[in-house]
Amino acid sequence: MAYTRNEIIELLRLEGKDKEALFREAAALRDETIGTKVYLRGLIEYGNVCTKDCLYCGIRRSGDTPRYTLDRQQVLAAARFAYESGYGSIVIQGGEIHSERHIDTIEQLLRDVAALSSGRLGVTLSLGEQSYETYARWREAGAHRYLLRIEASNRDLYAKIHPDDGMHSFDRRVKALEDLRETGYQVGTGVMVGLPWQTTGDLADDLLFMRSIDIDMCGMGPYIVSDGTPLAAYPGPIAPPGHRLDMTLKMISVLRLMMPDINIAAATALQAIDRDGRRTALACGANVIMPNISPEDAKHSYTLYNGKSTVADNSIGDLQAAWNENGDSLHFRRR
Ligand code: SAH
Repeated sequence: MAYTRNEIIELLRLEGKDKEALFREAAALRDETIGTKVYLRGLIEYGNVCTKDCLYCGIRRSGDTPRYTLDRQQVLAAARFAYESGYGSIVIQGGEIHSERHIDTIEQLLRDVAALSSGRLGVTLSLGEQSYETYARWREAGAHRYLLRIEASNRDLYAKIHPDDGMHSFDRRVKALEDLRETGYQVGTGVMVGLPWQTTGDLADDLLFMRSIDIDMCGMGPYIVSDGTPLAAYPGPIAPPGHRLDMTLKMISVLRLMMPDINIAAATALQAIDRDGRRTALACGANVIMPNISPEDAKHSYTLYNGKSTVADNSIGDLQAAWNENGDSLHFRRR
């Protein structure tokens, strides 16, 4: 559906029965377009060392969180677990590092992961902004999807939630998304929902941004305060958790109606507000879930926001999972 900005704002304001109808319509369109099965991505939290200083993030450079990086054996053990459990794909996510050593290490890991699954395990990376050459090297080594949230597509809002230290540029982030496309990845982006200063108009623009760059995948979740970060000291009110959850669900539904054949993840942050948050998102049009398969210590040190390390529920339960499928986005395959 090619909605206008005003139409999107109206949809994002729906409440009660109309909102429920929106959720159902989005889920029905997903079922019809890409099927009822949920893709599984085993999430490996590679490390929390980061050169960036994002004002909302618990692993920002200036924070005092103890740092860790998984070693090769830990990553490969998690990847093997995902492969043998039939998850079909993994996500390697972590802080943004640009050193040659880091780039080499990831490249080698990607080759090892490809070898242990004969290239069958889907691999998504989420390691921040890198150079065109780095993206190309990692693509060549076996990664084929990349998740880089724009975080906020309004450049003024982006500037408010990132420091003005020369390291955080809206334009560079957009350029990174273009580089990912050019180097052959399935490209995923997303935003945080319920940020300070954010308006419903901003959220509508976020969805229009995603459509304009023709994304293959999306991961968006509620903003959750992370104690000790500069944004946690924001003096104004932020929307209550239930509202942020609800708004995220509406964002997922509207995006599904706008881009029926993309992959949309039920973000982990939903679970920090509501135990069933991710499952609810699946009933609103999302089709990807990312069970955390990081080693226990890492789970507790990868502290993006409050309440994250207590997120324990990885149960796939009665979900209709797409076992052993690598889960490429239909949008990408049709391209
Ligand atoms: N370094 C990578 C991965 C970042 S962490 C990158 O830059 O892409 C993954 C995501 O966690 C971020 O994109 C951000 O949207 C989300 N995140 C960080 N802090 C958060 C918070 N306080 N509340 C909700 N989500 C947050």
